[in-house]
This record gives sequence, structure tokens and C-alpha cells, in this order.
Amino acid sequence: MSTRGDRHLLAMQQAKQLSELGARLKTIHVVTGMPPRQVQSLFFPDARTIPRGRAPDSPEWYHSANLILRTDACLIGAKYRQLRGQGLSAAESLILAYRAYQSATQMPSRISLDRAFNLVSYIDGIWLARAPTLTILVCPECGCEFLAAVGTVVRTGEACPFCKLLARFHIDHRLQASYPPRPAIDMTERQLGMVALSHVLSLDSTGDSPQK
Ligand SMILES: [Zn+2]
Repeated sequence: MSTRGDRHLLAMQQAKQLSELGARLKTIHVVTGMPPRQVQSLFFPDARTIPRGRAPDSPEWYHSANLILRTDACLIGAKYRQLRGQGLSAAESLILAYRAYQSATQMPSRISLDRAFNLVSYIDGIWLARAPTLTILVCPECGCEFLAAVGTVVRTGEACPFCKLLARFHIDHRLQASYPPRPAIDMTERQLGMVALSHVLSLDSTGDSPQK
């Protein structure tokens, strides 16, 4: 049975972790319940370091995002879903899934913590969302888990961004530039590696405990 003090301490720890991952004050407030002014005074002593600009706010973003961003979103969503399935809280799952995403992809991260917060809100129907509008499906073609609108019927390769990514990879230079460079001779290995990435993220559930 956790005490009020335990819960307060946990909220503080999570607020610190979220601030280190680049979260906005509002995101930290919604996830931890801590008042934004308190978050600011504790973790952003220099007001110039507070993340600014328009927060990601569209639930439709995923469907119109480019292929690279969609596969990134899938990595985060699948990991989040897996951690939730293991009984972790939404806040813990968000933080760990985002860290797993960061460690599996190149910096700077293409998807911000605030965008990840937005995505998982719509997966679970929590925080920013009243009901789930995104779900995780398993592609019958490549076996990768991917995000789709709730109610999507799985058909071979059709909605799976990983299948599309692999199909386009050898001709799309912009896509190639977004992934770690390797000798061109390894093309097949790179393609397989990108599929493997999503599998790695859904298998190493114990390997990505908080780094700090
Ligand atoms: Zn697929």
C-alpha cells in the first residue's frame, strides 16, 4: 500500500525524467498531476530552457505523417502497449517506451516526448483523449506491430508502414539517409534490420530500465 508520500515522490521522479526527455510543462502536469508552476520552479530554474512552441495536438497526425515518422510512432506505440500489458502504469510505460525508442534510433529524435504523449493518449483513451482511437495490430506479412485506427481490418501489408518502408527502402534516398549509414552492400541486412528493430523493441522489455 503506497502512502501519500510515496505517490508524491513518484510524481516528482517522473516529472524529473519527463523534463529530461524534453516534455512541456503541460505534459508533465497531465502525466504526474504536479502543478505546472511547481514543475517549472523545480526542474526549469532557467525559464529560457522551458520547451516552447505549439504542442502536438492532432489525433489525426499519425495517419498523415510520412512513412519514417509513422514507423517511429509504431515503435513507441508497440512498446508502450507491451509495457501496459505487463502491468506498468501509463506514466511509467510512456517514459520507458520513449527511452527504448531513443536508444533504438538516431538522435535527434524525430518524435518528441510530447508527440509520444499525444500518441499514447489516443492508444489508451487517457490524458488528452476521451476514448481510444488508435490500436496496435500485428502485420500478417512482416510480423511487425503497427498503429492503426481503431476498427481497422488487417489485410496483408496494406496498412503496415514497415512493409511499405521495406518496399521503398531501396529506391528512396531520403529514407536511407534517416537510418544509420552502412556500406551499400548490406542493403538486405539493413532491410531486415529495420524489421528486426520493432521486434527488438517488443522483446527487450527488461533491458531498458531507467538510465539514471
Ligand atoms: Zn508489415
